[in-house]
Amino acid sequence: MTLLERKTKPPLCPFCGQEIAPPRPLEDNFLYEFDGGECSCGATYCLDPTARNGGAVLMQAMVQACRGDWDKAQDLSSDIDYVEGVITRYSPLAHRVNAPGAFGTIYCIRLNSKK
Ligand SMILES: [Zn+2]
Repeated sequence: MTLLERKTKPPLCPFCGQEIAPPRPLEDNFLYEFDGGECSCGATYCLDPTARNGGAVLMQAMVQACRGDWDKAQDLSSDIDYVEGVITRYSPLAHRVNAPGAFGTIYCIRLNSKK
């Protein structure tokens, strides 16, 4: 294990604690501007590599959670329809958290079970 690996840690899903897969370009890149993915617990996530896009990245994670349905995503209410988590200081290159100079943010969304 290298020094870097000891100081850093893998990115973990805020909801289930499993390591998430590296965000990757999503299939529908007309709809999705940022890299993202989905955890095995059903949470979706989206990477803001610059820590400047904030709201747009969070919105995309919600649209991913709604399977591309923008109207549905915009109707969701925080804490009622979904829970939100963030992973900060993420390095997409190393796929580690707390890596030196890492300032990416991963926004995670998990929809509450169907009403
Ligand atoms: Zn998860």
